[in-house]
Amino acid sequence: MDFKLDPADEAFRAEMRAFIRANLPEDVARRGRRGYHPTHDDVQRWQRILNAQGWGAINWPAEHGGVDWSPLRRFLFQMELKAAGAPVEDQSALELVGPVIYTFGSQAQKDRYLPAILNADEFWCQGFSEPNAGSDLASLRTRAVRDGDEFVVDGQKIWTSEAHKADMMFALVRTNSEVKPQAGISFLLIDMKSPGLTVRPIYTINEGLSVNEVFFDSVRVPAENLVGEENRGWSYAKFLLTNERAMSAEVPHTHHDLELLKDIAAVEILNGRPIAEDPLFAAKIAKLEVDLLALEYAVLRVLHTPEDDASLNAVSSVLKLRGAELRQRVSELSVEALGEYGLAVFPDVEGQDNMDKLAPVPPAPDYAAGHLSKAMFRRATTIYGGANEIQRNIIAKTVLGL
Ligand SMILES: Cc1cc2nc3c(=O)[nH]c(=O)nc-3n(C[C@H](O)[C@H](O)[C@H](O)COP(=O)(O)OP(=O)(O)OC[C@H]3O[C@@H](n4cnc5c(N)ncnc54)[C@H](O)[C@@H]3O)c2cc1C
Repeated sequence: MDFKLDPADEAFRAEMRAFIRANLPEDVARRGRRGYHPTHDDVQRWQRILNAQGWGAINWPAEHGGVDWSPLRRFLFQMELKAAGAPVEDQSALELVGPVIYTFGSQAQKDRYLPAILNADEFWCQGFSEPNAGSDLASLRTRAVRDGDEFVVDGQKIWTSEAHKADMMFALVRTNSEVKPQAGISFLLIDMKSPGLTVRPIYTINEGLSVNEVFFDSVRVPAENLVGEENRGWSYAKFLLTNERAMSAEVPHTHHDLELLKDIAAVEILNGRPIAEDPLFAAKIAKLEVDLLALEYAVLRVLHTPEDDASLNAVSSVLKLRGAELRQRVSELSVEALGEYGLAVFPDVEGQDNMDKLAPVPPAPDYAAGHLSKAMFRRATTIYGGANEIQRNIIAKTVLGL
């Protein structure tokens, strides 16, 4: 397989780069280039610019407001976005629930939700995990009981990313307890402002706020918010989880972090010279770069695989596994390169919602901000979206036939 870009793809990439350079607001780009966690406002501003251009959902089919680019061009676009410092989109909306709605939802649901997602009018969160249902998701117990034109929901979700900012949640709920666990689950769209719904923040080790507990106390959800058929939610969830794993290789993000790492290594001094010139440290960067290139080529190979190829489920697990490890490694190396500045949390001052709760910050260079915090948060990459052990089980079963 020849991965060299042909002239038409090269021209496409140049066009994308020029568009992003001309349209990405300078302050948003500055925060993004420094690796700050994007604010709600930054995500919304940029999404609306992309949507006005018709590029609001590059992974959706054109008939639902997406584009008709090849998978390779979508990947090139994502690389350009990240390199320019564009904020990460609302992935729960665009990569997870959007495809479920246009594939399994009613026409009324498509009309109601897809335009609002494209224009970032509404933000979404994913209500799957529960205190006793993470890896073993099918054992979830949050209950939805039909009452006339509504479902009444009781129970609890946990680790719900961005629930404190979300307008809507897509949730897996138990609608039948008499059958095998997978056969009694439904997929509901829940308004986060519903009476009886409470969001409680969980502050994580990096002093950040992104995950939450969500409690449902007799929350009434219109029956028209059921996606597809009642008790068929597990099959929609499996479709969604394959998409989630496939996106989690996150090659463009790691490329960007690698560039930040190289910038730090060029100026931080160890034994009288930049740490980038230290043979041991240089070897670590080189190894990371080679592994990242190998992952990028694996992603490109997948992009050339037909979408109905049965091997894609296992391959998405391989990409998730490797991508998560490299995301951890790059941020750990950044902390190592920072030397003593890697010891304290220097918050990314423009990207935190809970600045008032953070400890006072000792003086440090600009480039120290965010790295230790990011490295600590990245412990989660091998857990969320399905823990690495679970991905290995999938690979063992589907690839190795064990
Ligand atoms: C930062 C972060 C954000 C998240 N965001 C969301 C979100 O937005 N929405 C959402 O629904 N969920 C979210 N999650 C939850 C995430 O999907 C779960 O944490 C994950 O699926 C693991 O479940 P668990 O935490 O219950 O761990 P457990 O399932 O209890 O697992 C504990 C350990 O046991 C191992 N283990 C479990 N079963 C097996 C097995 N069969 N074989 C081998 N090892 C096994 C696991 O690999 C893990 O190491 C998030 C989690 C984190 C950390």
